[in-house]
Amino acid sequence: MKTKFVVITGGVLSGLGKGVVTASIGSILKAQGYKVSAVKIDPYINVDAGTMRPTEHGEVFVTEDGGETDQDLGNYERFFDENIFKKHNITTGQVYLNVIQKERNLEYDGKCVEVIPHIPLEVRRRIFKVAKDTKADYVMIEVGGTIGDYQNVLFLEALREMKREYNNMIFVHVAYLPVPGNIGEMKTKPAQHSVRALNASGIQPDIIIARASNMIDKIRREKLSTFCNVKEDAVIGAPDVFNIYEVPLIFEKQGLGKKIVEKFGKKYKKGKLSKWESLIKKTKKLKKTVKIGIVGKYFDIGDFTLEDSYISVIEAIKHASWNNSVNYKIEWIDSKKYEKNKSALKELDKYNGVIVPGGFGYSGVEGKILAIEYVRKKKIPYLGICYGMQLAVVEFARNVCKLEGANTTENEKNVKHPVIDILPEQIEKLKQKKYGATMRLGTYPAKLKRGTKVRKLYKNKGKVDERHRHRYEVNPEYIERLEKKGLVFSGKSPDRSLMEFMELPKHPYFVGAQAHPEFKSRPFRPAPLFDGLIKAAIKKRIK
Ligand code: GLN
Repeated sequence: MKTKFVVITGGVLSGLGKGVVTASIGSILKAQGYKVSAVKIDPYINVDAGTMRPTEHGEVFVTEDGGETDQDLGNYERFFDENIFKKHNITTGQVYLNVIQKERNLEYDGKCVEVIPHIPLEVRRRIFKVAKDTKADYVMIEVGGTIGDYQNVLFLEALREMKREYNNMIFVHVAYLPVPGNIGEMKTKPAQHSVRALNASGIQPDIIIARASNMIDKIRREKLSTFCNVKEDAVIGAPDVFNIYEVPLIFEKQGLGKKIVEKFGKKYKKGKLSKWESLIKKTKKLKKTVKIGIVGKYFDIGDFTLEDSYISVIEAIKHASWNNSVNYKIEWIDSKKYEKNKSALKELDKYNGVIVPGGFGYSGVEGKILAIEYVRKKKIPYLGICYGMQLAVVEFARNVCKLEGANTTENEKNVKHPVIDILPEQIEKLKQKKYGATMRLGTYPAKLKRGTKVRKLYKNKGKVDERHRHRYEVNPEYIERLEKKGLVFSGKSPDRSLMEFMELPKHPYFVGAQAHPEFKSRPFRPAPLFDGLIKAAIKKRIK
């Protein structure tokens, strides 16, 4: 196999943007004409991210083949402009599950199955499978967690062994360099310690990425070089940026692409990063801004808000805004406040567009429905994604069709008007408590109705594919009643049984999708429904 591996580890802190670093390194290699792919290793026992609360873990990114994966796979897709699949996310849970299953099937020929060597071997088998299936020249391997964590030790062991035998591998360590307020100086000590901890696992980094608020200077490069045993020019600065798509350019400017290929004995060809350069140039010059309100609930952890739960939605807003030559400003709205105080709804007037993104369960739902009613009546551009579409149907049923108390059975089992109901194939799964990876997941096609806004946005295509993650659907028994009052189902599954898209033709922009169009949005190919929202938002009054 000719694949080369670039392993990315993280030190000092979590949340360093290791995913963006990984995706950016892949991008500069891709720009040199190489085929690139990536693997994310997650140390948790969950088999996949699907059973985790978004505030615990961030967004659950859905792949084409229906994987419920780590949000970093979204970064890889957006930076590489390529699809990444379920098997590219390896978790401790998957590894152990497989080893134990194999043991039960007598696949170890009567051997004693042990943590070493069998767990690292299974990790390796999975990494090599990705390399083989993608035929990539370079596979990035991002190790989740922080060096020093007990739970990623076995993955480091697997990678150390892999390097010994396979050799076509380099290690890049991303470490945080704090600038403590009271000192006002960038400190390298925590990074030094994290490299020591990595050394204790038998791994010596080839390159150090110095993540900090500022660019690392010469003195601190020298320090890291001396204490961490890397060449000075192998310390690469990664300062905070306004726009993550600038990171590949910052790395390339410091010669990172050259350094990596030369470490593998390859000759450097100057990479073509011009499309990223023009994007950054363009975004720095934008004058007008659209203000988008996102009404959701997975925002806060303790006293802090975390945008990670909706990262693909945020990226999709960015892509669509830039495509329309405007800046974006996103504000997070906790729907529960509308339940307590309806007069607060007036604040929605200040947005050029409103989104209700995907979600689950009862909390905050009535507030979301109130917000949807408000933007429908006030003709504020609206995009409802998955739950956001389902709740738009509930709102329309209650307030326009006068189906009193209409609801989704997700929240009210014996509701009088179950306008959103469980998908028939899901009933049995829930009865048996089979929650993991059992939703309607991944890509499904929809046929679009002629003359609709949605079809126009999809460049008048008759059939489109989007990625799904849901258990509930628009109840077929209510379709006629909803349509009679003016709600248009602009897209349906090919057998016409499932309502995939909806819109209100008389509204400037009131569109819903059962799928999650944000997962397929790319920097140079915005998701059509987000593009439509931004276009309508611009028309609404823009400052
Ligand atoms: N809770 C809804 C369902 O399961 C919507 C899911 C979502 O928004 N992804 O159908």
